Amino acid sequence: MGKLDGKIAIVTGSNRGIGKGIAIALAREGCKVVVNSYKEDEDAKKTAEEIKKLGADSIFVKADVIREVDMKSLVEHTVKHFGRLDIMVNNAGILVQGTVDTLTEQDWDKQMDVNLKGVFFATKYAVMQMKKQGTSGRIINISSIAGLVGFPGISAYCASKGGVTEFTREVALDCAQYKITVNAINPGVIVTDMTKGMINDEETRKSLLENTPVGRFGQPEDIGNAAVFLALDESSFITGHNLVVDGGWTAR
Ligand code: NAD
Repeated sequence: MGKLDGKIAIVTGSNRGIGKGIAIALAREGCKVVVNSYKEDEDAKKTAEEIKKLGADSIFVKADVIREVDMKSLVEHTVKHFGRLDIMVNNAGILVQGTVDTLTEQDWDKQMDVNLKGVFFATKYAVMQMKKQGTSGRIINISSIAGLVGFPGISAYCASKGGVTEFTREVALDCAQYKITVNAINPGVIVTDMTKGMINDEETRKSLLENTPVGRFGQPEDIGNAAVFLALDESSFITGHNLVVDGGWTAR
């Protein structure tokens, strides 16, 4: 028996990387998972197939987090197919490089649209649905340690993740009376397409590892395990929390 048997989850940006790791970890515990991305590609199909192989039900829904109408229909589609929504994981994100003096207005808007406005849209429709159901719910936002401490060269990214960190705390207060918990996970360096450029560069890799006391990079399943923990019924007293999963980076 899985720890999340019968639960229904949406994971945004789950065709690959951390989102895929979360989708699979939830499915392993018996959750039915809606896989999402802004495009339907091979990765999306493979993820939904891998989940089905675990014996869990899964569908793919194409929806762009920067479009409010898409996030509304993502939740509606989920409820139409699975009957309810218990867990919303806001994972979709991009990393726009640039220091404050090199970023353009377009760079800034693009970064904020996906990483912050997208979290707002998805949370809005998930909370509306969970309130309507009248049972407990879980919102899990994938922030970053860049939402807690500074990282050179990515000022818009840090600002967007700092926004997710604080949005999480505020929405937790608004939702506490409805038994909807709202938490964030703040990953350190995780091996995905987003970080492969840095990890493949010998000098950067060395420096990133030196800053990660456990001596290894994280894997998507490390974040998946943290998401399962926050999704459990037993985690109902945890809300407004930023769960750091960084191999010790911010403990130094
Ligand atoms: P990734 O690039 O491998 O995956 C990003 C995912 O987001 C993809 O599935 C992509 O399709 C999806 N996506 C992007 N724009 C979207 C949109 N507009 N609508 C819907 N989906 C969209 O990156 P990742 O490393 O797996 O990152 C996942 C999340 O984890 C991001 O929020 C990222 O900021 C965060 N994060 C990553 C790391 C890391 O080291 N990899 C560390 C901290 C936080």
